[in-house]
Amino acid sequence: MFEIPFLRPNLVKKDRFLSYYDKIEATRIYSNYGPLNHLFEERVITQMFGGAGSAVTVHNATIGLILAISQSKRSKGKYAIMPSFTFAATPLAAEWCGLEPYFLDIEPGNWQLNREQLELTVKQLGDEVAIIIPYATFGSSMDLSVYNMYLQQGIPVVIDAASSFGTVTSEEDEASHFGRGFEGAVVFSFHATKSFGIGEGGLVYSMNHDLIKRIRQSGNFGFSSSRESVLQGLNSKMSEYTAAVALATLDQFEAVQKNRKTIYEYYLHELCHAGLLERGWLMQESQGSVVHQFISIHSPDSLSNGEVVETLASSSIEARTYFSPACHQQKQFQGYSRDSLQVTEQLAKHIVSLPLWEELDEIIIRRIVKVLGSLGGESTR
Ligand SMILES: *Cc1c(COP(=O)(O)O)cnc(C)c1O
Repeated sequence: MFEIPFLRPNLVKKDRFLSYYDKIEATRIYSNYGPLNHLFEERVITQMFGGAGSAVTVHNATIGLILAISQSKRSKGKYAIMPSFTFAATPLAAEWCGLEPYFLDIEPGNWQLNREQLELTVKQLGDEVAIIIPYATFGSSMDLSVYNMYLQQGIPVVIDAASSFGTVTSEEDEASHFGRGFEGAVVFSFHATKSFGIGEGGLVYSMNHDLIKRIRQSGNFGFSSSRESVLQGLNSKMSEYTAAVALATLDQFEAVQKNRKTIYEYYLHELCHAGLLERGWLMQESQGSVVHQFISIHSPDSLSNGEVVETLASSSIEARTYFSPACHQQKQFQGYSRDSLQVTEQLAKHIVSLPLWEELDEIIIRRIVKVLGSLGGESTR
């Protein structure tokens, strides 16, 4: 056991969702996009997306990705272009849709899919491109204009925005949620370890109402209104009990967002104060206002993430290394095509994920940063 664990999920307490449970008992509707799922989708669209677009709940983001990919991909395409620097669920979802992941690098700085490499690869692969799946790295927002351009050219795009629920593109506009207005599918996760954690769950958003309709239908066995299977389907539905937890989580999400942002600010302040950002430690250049799931930091060139995690562990602090190994380095994905992955490979050697949970205070954060400071590690660049 670590004195300071990596995560300590703190989901909504039962007294907050019991009134929603009462509604379930009154209606005796337990699943099949019942009233609570419906209410949750509606509230997400009005509160977070300013009324623009449609959304469907899913049992988890991996299933959401599978459905979004299968309902968007070009039927004759072979490749799903994606960054290697993402969670295994992204390439796994492409595999379940009969596609081959094609791994590209990330850009230095923002750690998101390399747009120059993407342009060249799309030209080179032509009709073999089935879909592009960028990942909004570590919950950040990203510039979607280039992906709108691909959509206009008839190349489908699904965004893995698993940890971006709650991220707004403009601090001044609460309803400027990341993904708002996007015509492709944007997939969010509500896993217990994400910032909007409800246990297991997720949501697919799109400005394309028809796409959401098809995802909803394929998530319910591909049934038509006469309960005939007319699409390749499966069961991705979120139960009404989970929707109750989701509604209660939404009720208090503003406080969670604020708290997580404050913790990130503490980290930033301590890292600056200790002079680490001048000594080769790097943070992601993130756009928008991010509700962090954990704190990602790039260790100095002279210091591997393994050494950092080990030293933190010897001070009873638990850290991780998301996403190291990167996808192309994992056994399941090693055989797939890829371009040069220089930035990804460098980041996989240096990425450290630091603790974030709601009760973290300045004293604990100072203790964590002090251990990092003791490692020295002048940049060799
Ligand atoms: C968490 C995560 C997923 C998977 O979400 P689940 O809801 O657990 O299926 C997919 N992609 C990324 C990038 C993630 O971080």
